[in-house]
Amino acid sequence: MRAEVISIGDELTTGQRLDTNSQWISRELGVLGIPVAFHTTITDSLDDGLDAFQIAVARAEVVIVTGGLGPTADDLTREVLAAVAGEPLELVATALADVESRFANRGVAMPASNRQQAMFPRGSVPIPNPEGTAPGIEIAIPRAGGGAPARVFALPGVPGEMHSMWQATVGPALLKMLPEAGTIRFRRLKCFGAGESAIEAMLPDLIRRGRDPLVGITAHEATITLRIAARGDHDAACEEKIAPTEALIRGCLGELVYGTEDDEVEDAAIRNLAASGGSVATVEIGSLGLVAALLAQAAAREKSGCFAGGVVLPLTTVLPVAELAELRRRETGATFALAVGPVVRNSASGSGRPADAVEMVLVGPAGAVTICHTLGGAGTVRLSRLAKTALDMLRKGAARSLPGTPSGSGETS
Ligand code: ATP
Repeated sequence: MRAEVISIGDELTTGQRLDTNSQWISRELGVLGIPVAFHTTITDSLDDGLDAFQIAVARAEVVIVTGGLGPTADDLTREVLAAVAGEPLELVATALADVESRFANRGVAMPASNRQQAMFPRGSVPIPNPEGTAPGIEIAIPRAGGGAPARVFALPGVPGEMHSMWQATVGPALLKMLPEAGTIRFRRLKCFGAGESAIEAMLPDLIRRGRDPLVGITAHEATITLRIAARGDHDAACEEKIAPTEALIRGCLGELVYGTEDDEVEDAAIRNLAASGGSVATVEIGSLGLVAALLAQAAAREKSGCFAGGVVLPLTTVLPVAELAELRRRETGATFALAVGPVVRNSASGSGRPADAVEMVLVGPAGAVTICHTLGGAGTVRLSRLAKTALDMLRKGAARSLPGTPSGSGETS
């Protein structure tokens, strides 16, 4: 069995948007053990759609489609599917009631154009969309040479909606089609502090095709996620497979693993602080208060009162970052103070802070830790890396002050 992934939209063919859906879907299919043979990207045109779908159902047993399910005139996926299947579009009353109720819940009248989101090719099955108005479509399309029909799953283009529909409906349906059915379980380990290739090199032979359980690696703004996927007859069998692989990874990566599933570095920092009975205050220059914002959000998620507040100072501030950290700790009485700002250079011109070199200082009961970085990346990515690096210092510093842990030595790096 092999798959084809089709992405629909002028936005994609004109290069205005990157087709991340195909990447995401292909990874998911890979985890299920279904090889992806083709990626096809097409415009919002009926003719192009017909061509692409006819080719796809002839050469792949599974076709996953995203985009073109909306209510506007250029959303043509349902027409294309009906034409390729040779079936008329029919109104599905339950789907219409569902679309109507979503508008009613928001207190808004449903525009007439949304009615077409309840039209389905005869013989197809709506795929529920818990996060949006456009349901997906599952349809079996007969193939020219006979044999089993191609199974087509059409999902909305919006990545968040597509992901949840995959997890709730499409992934389990595909799993049932596999010769060795059963179930599949995942565990995500979140890491920070080393690059993707460095982490991969620390895990010899773990990230390879065909391994059971399978380990995949992805990177997003310097956070590395290792996903363990195990197949088995039932959940407990999957968990039994996951446990030794998880232990192996944790053993190899040690402190680089900060959490699991949806954890962010700041969640781990707040948890460590709360467990040690400590608190933190921040002071930032040139980072838009991002460190404080992330800490405040994490403290709210963890229902913790250990964030003692943050201040944001202008770029014209002349005090060195280390001094700001000391002052902030003294003024708030917090256990830790975390300061972030551009390095002050004593240049002859006295021009002060260059924008590229950033200093991060954590002061706490065991002394001060300083990291000086020239951070790569642009705009928001650069800022996010900066904030995460600072929060990671806090996570590690707070971990060292946990009861029963040997305290840090006031190192400077
Ligand atoms: P909706 O009715 O919710 O808009 P739709 O199926 O009509 O769903 P599109 O209009 O094609 O979806 O796309 C909606 C948005 O989803 C796009 O504007 C884009 O932001 C995003 N999107 C669409 N396709 C992709 C893709 N292949 N990769 C990443 N993002 C995508």
